[in-house]
Amino acid sequence: MNYLDFNTFLYGKEYPIVKWEENDTINFWIETSKSEVKCPECGCNCISVHETHQRKIQDTPIHNKNVYININVRELKCENSKCKVKTFTEELAFASKHQVRTYALTEFIITHAIYMSSSSTSLILSFIGVNVSADTVDNILKNVHIIDNPNVERIGIDDVAVRKGMKYATAIYDLDTHHLIALIEGREKDDIVPWLKEHKNIKFVARDRASSYADAINEILPNAVQVADRFHLFENIIKYLKEMFYSELPDKIVIKDNEILDKKATKVISELANINWDIVDSFSYTNDVPIDENGEEIKFIDVEYDMNDKMHLAQEERRLEKYNIAVKIKNESNLNIDELSKKYNVSQYLVKKFLKMSDEDGE
Ligand SMILES: [Zn+2]
Repeated sequence: MNYLDFNTFLYGKEYPIVKWEENDTINFWIETSKSEVKCPECGCNCISVHETHQRKIQDTPIHNKNVYININVRELKCENSKCKVKTFTEELAFASKHQVRTYALTEFIITHAIYMSSSSTSLILSFIGVNVSADTVDNILKNVHIIDNPNVERIGIDDVAVRKGMKYATAIYDLDTHHLIALIEGREKDDIVPWLKEHKNIKFVARDRASSYADAINEILPNAVQVADRFHLFENIIKYLKEMFYSELPDKIVIKDNEILDKKATKVISELANINWDIVDSFSYTNDVPIDENGEEIKFIDVEYDMNDKMHLAQEERRLEKYNIAVKIKNESNLNIDELSKKYNVSQYLVKKFLKMSDEDGE
């Protein structure tokens, strides 16, 4: 993207961004760059503006913030005197005349609403920068028209849980346009066979792992190429690996010193099996404040030590005294242990200890 063309990103050259503001929400002010607009009735090019209306249209979120487009929409006069239309409002490429949402945002909402209830959709979208009520989600869903393409050649097919997994449906997409072209109740072979029979041009099917789809496609469209997408392939592999591990590995493995204990493991497991859980369960643990027999709260002793109190000072003095003796003993190289013991009035054991001590040990 050319840096100079920065104002044409998102809405294109036809609608350059002239101003933007970011707070809790993101606002764009855009203009229409076209001066001429075709009259919807007679098709003549009109330029004279009757009046303008300010519109604020919600768009898909950016960085989980609500995005609004502000635009002055023109109402133009038709210059053709024979035309029965006096004035008309210009159409926007990204939103219909009376909508407060862009087409992109409506698509964004539908994509979520297929998998969730309307109230969940409204709630979850509110966390990621879309302002839409549950009632509006309902209305949007009522107005969804799924346009089938009987000549479609490449399809994607997937099962979707409608309303918290209570009910299943099969969604079929046109892989080239990414449009939903069918939403069929159920996800069994017989549910989709009638639809497949009406779409004999299909040459390529991207499908999930459900074999009921494979059976239906093999029967109705034996020449179509079937592929599983990567997501479903991994899901499959992991499922089989899990089953393999479950069948091969014991349910408990005992590890000691980084070694897996082979035979002892069964012994430990049998010991575990003999635990009387009634006794274990009888021990209760609560986070309540501990209370003594009089109903008073038990306070734990939490005393700070005063390093300058009498006891500590006396201890410090004795330690120093010992240290001084140790230094003297180390320097008296002409006396043996017995003589040193008698001279300084300490045990022979301590004399030996002092002699072994390095200078740092006494400090
Ligand atoms: Zn006209």
